[in-house]
Amino acid sequence: MNNKLVLVLNCGSSSLKFAVINADNGDEIISGLAECFNLPDARIKWKIAGNKKSTNLPSHSAHSAAISYIVEQIIKKEDGLAEQFVAVGHRIVHGGEKFTQSVVINDAVLEGIEECSSLAPLHNPAHVLGIKAAQSAFPALTQVAVFDTAFHQTMPAKAFMYALPYNLYKEAHVRRYGMHGTSHLFVTDEAAKALNKAVSDTNIISAHLGNGASVAAVKNGQCVDTSMGMTPLAGLVMGTRCGDIDPSIIEYLVTRQGYSLEGVMDMLQKQSGLLGISGISSDFRNILEENEKGNKRATLAMEMFSYRLAKYIASYAVPLGRIDAIVFTGGIGENSHLIRTQVLSLLSIFGYQVDPEKNEAAILGKQGIITADGSPIAMVIPTNEEWVIAQDSVKLASNQ
Ligand code: ADP
Repeated sequence: MNNKLVLVLNCGSSSLKFAVINADNGDEIISGLAECFNLPDARIKWKIAGNKKSTNLPSHSAHSAAISYIVEQIIKKEDGLAEQFVAVGHRIVHGGEKFTQSVVINDAVLEGIEECSSLAPLHNPAHVLGIKAAQSAFPALTQVAVFDTAFHQTMPAKAFMYALPYNLYKEAHVRRYGMHGTSHLFVTDEAAKALNKAVSDTNIISAHLGNGASVAAVKNGQCVDTSMGMTPLAGLVMGTRCGDIDPSIIEYLVTRQGYSLEGVMDMLQKQSGLLGISGISSDFRNILEENEKGNKRATLAMEMFSYRLAKYIASYAVPLGRIDAIVFTGGIGENSHLIRTQVLSLLSIFGYQVDPEKNEAAILGKQGIITADGSPIAMVIPTNEEWVIAQDSVKLASNQ
């Protein structure tokens, strides 16, 4: 009964990921996903002690009904579990310039998260719904907000400004914010441990490669640049997002090719990236399979993915000067030794040389250095954003 358990919630507009995490060691007691909110087939699936379970939620359920189900039908059914909860931690996508670190949620914080909705219109309103539902389910527990943007708030102005009229920054908050901050923070700390260095003396390039993908330059433990922008659309080639493109393409498609603005934005967010190039799938495993079969567009998608990433990594030599390690994380970064090989061979000018055996061994949750002796270091570190959220939540709850 001495465990420090945290309910970690990640509320999207039509789904909610949840997990019960032991903040001391990162163990996941329960994890699950409620999805298809506001639709007839709203449902929930979860895993507890290795057992997978699922059920339908009442038709058109959303955040509040899902959280009630999680509390009443899942958590409270486990003897003594709810009593070990010390906090609820919420993953918040956008904290604007307002939130530079995790905070205990009070009325002012809730208002601040709502204010940032214009920067993340799909996510922040859903987070607010999730927070309110969790507050009524657990009125006695501290609720903590952990922001995806917070880690990037240390970027200097020359990195976060766009070369647009300055008043757009001042009046409309147009700037680079960056995302995946919780993951970049986690791997920074883990890389420092693995390198046997103080975090404050650790320079890494962190490549978080999942369905969304971003890369961050971390100098002396602090973010100095990152590839995502004001929104998650910028930067690397992603599952369905285009990453960097010439902004004039949007005008060209609207004025010359008959697209609506909404149609173009939907295309850039949901029909581009690996899916758009390959015409097959946004899922990297399918791209790998088709590449093996000789599908040229799958091969092109992989090459573009690696090339863009390698160019970003190379450019981060500018702010960093010294690179202690390149870190690969996220579903693709943790599992695809082929992508890691492609990226590091594109960076051979810096001396990177893969050790094929070590590279192929670092999959399925295994951490390790993947470069040969004598090469600058690249490593795989499985990310654990939920653990960071749980740890921050316990820390802040204990100060209450
Ligand atoms: P999210 O951004 O949704 O959290 P993940 O970090 O789970 O995503 O990464 C999902 C991506 O990782 C998908 O493109 C998936 O195909 C890829 N992936 C998962 N396992 C493997 C694997 N064994 N080999 C290659 N890619 C993988």
